[in-house]
Amino acid sequence: MNKNILIILTGGTISMKAKGSMGVVPSSELAGLLREFPQLASVANIDVFEYMNLPSPYITPQMMLELARLIDLKIIDYDGVVITHGTDTLEETAYLCDLVLTTRKPVVFTAAMRSGSDIGLDGPRNIVGAVRVASHHDSADRGVLVVMNDEIHTARDVVKSDTGKVDAFRSIGYGPLGSVDPDTIVYHRSALYRENVWTDRLDTNIDLIKAVAGMDGKYILSSIDSGARAIVIEAFGRGNLPRDILPEIKQALAQGILVVISSRTYTGRVLSEYGYEGGGKHLEDLGCILAGDLKGVKVRLKLMALFGKYNDPDLVKRFFLQSRN
Ligand code: ASP
Repeated sequence: MNKNILIILTGGTISMKAKGSMGVVPSSELAGLLREFPQLASVANIDVFEYMNLPSPYITPQMMLELARLIDLKIIDYDGVVITHGTDTLEETAYLCDLVLTTRKPVVFTAAMRSGSDIGLDGPRNIVGAVRVASHHDSADRGVLVVMNDEIHTARDVVKSDTGKVDAFRSIGYGPLGSVDPDTIVYHRSALYRENVWTDRLDTNIDLIKAVAGMDGKYILSSIDSGARAIVIEAFGRGNLPRDILPEIKQALAQGILVVISSRTYTGRVLSEYGYEGGGKHLEDLGCILAGDLKGVKVRLKLMALFGKYNDPDLVKRFFLQSRN
């Protein structure tokens, strides 16, 4: 028997078309097309909800949380939910939903790298793939999934790795969870590491700064001055920084601001390894938090959720440490 799947549209290239000199812009055609798409009707009973039609660079963390609330309420009446979204911030929205949602039913994000006017457009295939994954009995209890280019990814691991290619979405460190094959859905592995922060509130005063050679502490000072509760730094390699920014890091810590170190490299964990001034061990000894393998943009969202829930730097630090890998 066909499953009942809700498709929630939020916008992005999958909902866009080229309009002459205006370039590629939002279009309202997707919902109508999906309602009449024969390849979908044979896979599941589909309802389509036009929630919004925004380019994903416009999506804020607060909007991500509101989307998660919507999914939470809507999924009660369905076997699974598929969300279409712009690719630019998809990994962030999917991850925030993964943190805060409690449902065990499949929640699957998908998107398109090519607009409705492009040759070889990928949107229809990605939507059918996402609906097939959301309808599959093996997709329950795997956290929020992202289906792109016939691959199934976890929200936590996936990144947009290319600006234009249809295979842009990758789980660079660990590989995809599975594949969307013509005859069936195949899962190759489970995601053993899962993390949730069940909150209905975010504190968005969390900044992210990327380390570059020769940097000084001006961005950290600016964060301190603007009232950040935590500063995430995408450091070098295992989690190392130039010593020129140590005075500002010490100032932030002295003011009770959490300083959380992730790595700007594509894969791997940050470690308390190097003891030189600015090295990961030295930073941890100063009171910085090492973020495991979680990438900076996702560390930032997790801290928003933790501060929203606990509103206390010490509690946030303890919950962050006990849930990092
Ligand atoms: N700029 C678009 C967006 O994220 C890109 C896309 O959807 O592929 O809305």
